[in-house]
Amino acid sequence: MKDETKLVVIGRDPDANFGIVNPPVYHASTILHQSLEALRKSQAARAAGERVVSYGRIGTPTSWSLEDAVAAVEGGYRTQVFPSGLAACSQAMLAFVKSGDHILMTDSVYGPSRNFCDKILKRFGVDVTYYYPLIGSGIKELMQANTVIVYVEAPGSQTFEMQDIPTIAEVAHTGGAIVMMDNTWASPLFFKPFEHGVDVSIQAGTKYIVGHSDVMIGTVTTTKECWPTLQAGANLMGQTAGPDDIYLAQRGIRTLSVRLQQHMANGIAVAEWLTGRPEVHSVLHPALPDHPGHAIWKRDFLGASGLFSFRLNAVSEAAIAAFMDHLELFGIGYSWGGYESLIIFADPSTYRTATTWDNSNPLIRLHIGLEAVDDLIADLGAGFKRLNSTK
Ligand SMILES: *Cc1c(COP(=O)(O)O)cnc(C)c1O
Repeated sequence: MKDETKLVVIGRDPDANFGIVNPPVYHASTILHQSLEALRKSQAARAAGERVVSYGRIGTPTSWSLEDAVAAVEGGYRTQVFPSGLAACSQAMLAFVKSGDHILMTDSVYGPSRNFCDKILKRFGVDVTYYYPLIGSGIKELMQANTVIVYVEAPGSQTFEMQDIPTIAEVAHTGGAIVMMDNTWASPLFFKPFEHGVDVSIQAGTKYIVGHSDVMIGTVTTTKECWPTLQAGANLMGQTAGPDDIYLAQRGIRTLSVRLQQHMANGIAVAEWLTGRPEVHSVLHPALPDHPGHAIWKRDFLGASGLFSFRLNAVSEAAIAAFMDHLELFGIGYSWGGYESLIIFADPSTYRTATTWDNSNPLIRLHIGLEAVDDLIADLGAGFKRLNSTK
């Protein structure tokens, strides 16, 4: 089955549900067992790693409807839901580390994941080194005997560096570490982590899987080898998500393929238009041929989502505000992946440590939604007019 078909078919079973197209939402904590024998059987099955409905937190057909669809499209063995994307990132790391271990993490990582390492993991004696995202095979020099996770994210969700993930994965595996990836930008459709050496793949489902800016959810998908560790960790740390949120995520994923095609087309069109603007210093979009990571993107990725950044020629804060404040179609706000366009200002020089980030060209990140490209361009064009008439 192709991805588009998997998204429609997997995780739904109308025959088991009166012919109703969508899976039911099971609100469950207690699961009643018919007898002591049934209880014992259920316990044994769970201990053997089988899927049984034994307690709400452990999983229900509602959570499996989403987990199965994500696992099938992302190409992993199985998937576990989490209450947010950040919970998926933090709990995935926690499941695999112990005191004295070392993590190598990309310097372009999602900010809160970095804060989790610096403010929580370090307290428990887990050491973290941030590496330059373009390091490639040079990561060999940073591997230590106690390195257990190499944590990649490509492209970085503010600065859009690409990474040579197969090369990094080879070095990590040779050194005995697993590769964990935040794969949110590409969604499960546009990068196949398990075909490129990744062992554990994380989605902030909040973004493209949900697709409508109204639910927080996360998923972690793993290889067969990593599954028992991830699942035991998630269960023991009490991780699950609410059934209504899971339901909305499984509904969202059914239309992921058409939405992403449109986000990609709209995003590239706006990015190309920006490259011709005199106010713009550079556009950071891996699908543009002059992006430094374009060759890697073309080799490893199947598409681009609607998120990218551009850098302005140096202007005043007031001029940037004039540009951003009165846009009609771009909301100023965090997150992305919904149907609507968003804009945010970022300053990577405040958090990068492996290298310094030169912020003399202010960085603006756009999420390109499903509006008509002409309307989006007209909105940005009016914004540049305001920018140019402000000192
Ligand atoms: C948003 C985001 C997260 C966190 O997801 P939440 O659901 O907001 O907790 C993790 N990684 C990336 C790349 C993100 O953009």
